[in-house]
Amino acid sequence: MSHVFPRHTKSNLPVAVGGDGCYLIDDQGQRYLDCGDAAVSCLGHSNPAVIEAVQRQVEQIAFAHTGFMTSEPAEALADLLVEHAPDGLDRVYFVSGGSEATEAAMKLARQYFLEIGQPERRRVIARRQSYHGNTLGALSAGGNEWRRAQFAPMLIEMTHIAPCFEYAEKPDAESSFDYGQRVANELEAEILRLGPETVMAFMAEPVVGATLGAVPAVEGYFQRIRQICDQYGVLLILDEVMCGMGRTGHLFACDRDGIAPDILCIAKGLGAGYQPIGAMMCTAKIYDAIRDGSGFFQHGHTYIGHPVATAAALAVVTELTTRALPARAGVMGDKLQEALQAEFGQHPNVGDIRGRGLFRGLELVADRETKTPFDPAHGVAGKIKKIALAEGLICYPMSGTRDGRVGDHVLLAPPFIIEDAQ
Ligand code: PLP
Repeated sequence: MSHVFPRHTKSNLPVAVGGDGCYLIDDQGQRYLDCGDAAVSCLGHSNPAVIEAVQRQVEQIAFAHTGFMTSEPAEALADLLVEHAPDGLDRVYFVSGGSEATEAAMKLARQYFLEIGQPERRRVIARRQSYHGNTLGALSAGGNEWRRAQFAPMLIEMTHIAPCFEYAEKPDAESSFDYGQRVANELEAEILRLGPETVMAFMAEPVVGATLGAVPAVEGYFQRIRQICDQYGVLLILDEVMCGMGRTGHLFACDRDGIAPDILCIAKGLGAGYQPIGAMMCTAKIYDAIRDGSGFFQHGHTYIGHPVATAAALAVVTELTTRALPARAGVMGDKLQEALQAEFGQHPNVGDIRGRGLFRGLELVADRETKTPFDPAHGVAGKIKKIALAEGLICYPMSGTRDGRVGDHVLLAPPFIIEDAQ
């Protein structure tokens, strides 16, 4: 009998014993094409450069507490990330995963406003139908109703505006651009309703992952969001935990939208699964306020900037940048989109096929003409997950309520090394 406390206590999961490129291998020898459990594996499961970097670092020094020392891989990784990051992002704060990154981002926003003498700025606005992590602060920012429901009494009060979800929410008579501007303007209305002097940050995923299934915003949406944040002195936090690190065809997803945030959160693909690591990047303006003020970011975890994790991520980002793998994700993503269109474009239960790069989503519906969702009693996402796994495919199907309405999707996020035949 296993003593592991698994996520799913009613299913018997295969035991992973090996990895070979895009495949995971279980103890029975079955191979599973990894098309994105949760969009982690960008380099596949047997990248020699990353494996070697981890081994070398463990032998050299595995741990040094960041309250006392920095480390070579952390310094080199920060330099490399800043070299490739959107304009203005100048400092990198390492954490161990995505939820830690979004939590740290919100606390950094708060401390920034304290440092510059605006203590009344304390509110975060986020979007409905979003996901920013499972710790209590991150869950408070997220708008995934199913994940929030049980813990609602414990969550911090934050307000949520509409997502930018063209397929489900744009009226036929409205242009994509106008729709994007209209929903972006909800941010301005919310800032004015709360009082601009009380709002510290707006947080959003450039391409919505877990909750909606690879939904990018329409053209112009994020430019308008950036304008509104600038106008009211509100910090823009972009959560690229799932869509970042090359997955959408750009190393940073927001590059495609032509904007830069004040704070950016990354994780998943940063360590590519070889080590648990995330990061929060911020502008010099924010960093300098702390450096020239209290001199101490009042936040931290034991394993921040872990030498082995940063060594792994350094090798990952080096692989991504020197082998131009984000561009490959773009090219292969277009092919995946075409293949999905050819296979499912006319399928009566597929309402939409969308995404960017190797980050694709299929919307599952009972009726594609009326966009009627499946009855939740069908448990369609759970069935697909089970059947796919039995057939040797790992993908990420999800069912959920979105603003009270039900929706189902399948998310596909294969490694960037995937080949045409796979
Ligand atoms: N933010 C986004 C956009 C995510 O998709 C996730 C995880 O799926 C998180 C944050 C939380 O990351 P983690 O599971 O590493 O804590």
